[in-house]
Amino acid sequence: MGFPVVAVVGRPNVGKSTIFNRIAGDRISIVEDTPGVTRDRIYTRAEWLTREFRLIDTGGIDMADEPFMTQIVQQAEIAIDEADVIIFMVSAQEGLTEADERVAKILYRSKKPVVLAVNKVDNIEMRSEIYEFYALGFGDPFPISGAHGTGLGDLLDEVVSHFPTTDQEEEDDSIRFSFIGRPNVGKSSLVNAILGEERVIVSDISGTTRDAIDTRFTSAEGDEFVMVDTAGIRKRGKVYENTEKYSVMRAMRAIDDSNVVLMVLNAEEGIREQDKHVAGYAHEAGRAIIIVVNKWDTLEKDNHTMADFEKQIRDEFQYLSYAPIIFVSAKTKQRLNKLPELIKQVNENHQKRVQSATLNEVIMDALALNPTPTVNGKRLRVYYATQVAIQPPTFVVFVNDPELMHFSYARFLENQIRKSFDFTGTPIHLIKRART
Ligand code: GDP
Ligand code: GDP
Repeated sequence: MGFPVVAVVGRPNVGKSTIFNRIAGDRISIVEDTPGVTRDRIYTRAEWLTREFRLIDTGGIDMADEPFMTQIVQQAEIAIDEADVIIFMVSAQEGLTEADERVAKILYRSKKPVVLAVNKVDNIEMRSEIYEFYALGFGDPFPISGAHGTGLGDLLDEVVSHFPTTDQEEEDDSIRFSFIGRPNVGKSSLVNAILGEERVIVSDISGTTRDAIDTRFTSAEGDEFVMVDTAGIRKRGKVYENTEKYSVMRAMRAIDDSNVVLMVLNAEEGIREQDKHVAGYAHEAGRAIIIVVNKWDTLEKDNHTMADFEKQIRDEFQYLSYAPIIFVSAKTKQRLNKLPELIKQVNENHQKRVQSATLNEVIMDALALNPTPTVNGKRLRVYYATQVAIQPPTFVVFVNDPELMHFSYARFLENQIRKSFDFTGTPIHLIKRART
């Protein structure tokens, strides 16, 4: 948690997303299968020589309707705000342009380390094209080629050398959680309402190198929590803050840093497309999830209001069927005192371990209840299951032939496991494997 963040900036077409995808590898491609999730990636986990970091492609944070220059200026500002190290990318093919100089001017003003990458150096002859970029004033340019993947090693060596040193992370049992959701659902109001509760004790606020601030507090019940990234919520007034891509990127960072994610919906406005993008990322990341319906005070209610709203949520977010739903109001504080306990419960479920013996009794009962299917005359045989990981709970199921276990049977087994053990709030991963 708290990995260094690297942002790639530069005018359009220099090759930012090509390089982003090369560095990201195929890490988060599963996201693409989640319904409602935007395809283009702008935030990813990455690793170089065992140093894990996060990578942002600021070029993907486009502000529709804004003039070209305004967009690249804002993208550079985002990089300065979000990153520990900035990769400033230019192109040897097009040479130094006015737009490059514009980006450079903004980067001068920041104190963040900037590494200059000259892309599209596809062959040896092109290498002589890099010298003009010394004029930008960021020292030695690193020649790279997104097309061939060359030069990336040297570039990343340089990037990693600017990372803050690591040993400040200490082991800590407190539960890390964050509020995510599109703008205006009430995230910062919820943060303030919870910290303002009479019996909540805010113990310390620790800043890090990038403006993210975690707030540590003790609940009325005496449990320790860390609220992640409240600064990102509190910091206000930047032009780009209300763009969808930016808020999705912030949400992904908060998700990454949390054990439990509180996905906030606005009761007044109902469910929007953007809510689904955010929820999709939380689910993909394998975090524990609670769905928080805020502004519950704004609705005229009868006996069906809550059940109707819940049904809508279940229909729209089918892949989050494990997430509990709580209806709250930051304004009247309705049910807010129940949140810490709920967060604690789902966090426990997220790190729950079940004994193999008990698990296999459940699996055997499941097999008796719903015999395995036969595909093309061949019957699926399930031999044994065991839990191999927590956060989220992950089970390996040994079978005769993984091809024979279709989604529906895996889903059935998952449901039987959920009936026997309380995994409320956490996804479960089932991995099928051939017994050798
Ligand atoms: P972005 O707008 O900065 O994200 O740029 P893209 O990654 O979309 O790349 C812009 C164009 O440059 C695309 O047509 C890429 O295929 C091409 N491109 C990217 N890297 C290289 C490279 O190393 N060499 C060459 N010749 N073309 C590249
Ligand atoms: P954020 O962008 O998600 O952080 O949302 P804010 O916390 O800034 O809230 C957006 C607006 O909704 C503000 O005007 C808040 O006063 C209002 N708001 C937040 N929570 C509630 C609530 O529970 N009930 C009502 N009626 N208004 C709320």
